[in-house]
Amino acid sequence: MRACQGPNCGWLFLDQSRGGHRRLCSDKTCGSHARVRKFRAVQADFWDRIVRREISSLC
Ligand SMILES: [Zn+2]
Repeated sequence: MRACQGPNCGWLFLDQSRGGHRRLCSDKTCGSHARVRKFRAVQADFWDRIVRREISSLC
């Protein structure tokens, strides 16, 4: 068993590759999860800025 090296993942997986150098639990799912997380973070920051601008314009 190995621990996934993906960002914010840490899943345990069985390394069945020949070299045993696999770093991610799944190249497809783990990679896409990381991308979705990054996208959501950018989106949250975008909305945070808009809300802050709205509040400052009201005061
Ligand atoms: Zn992973």
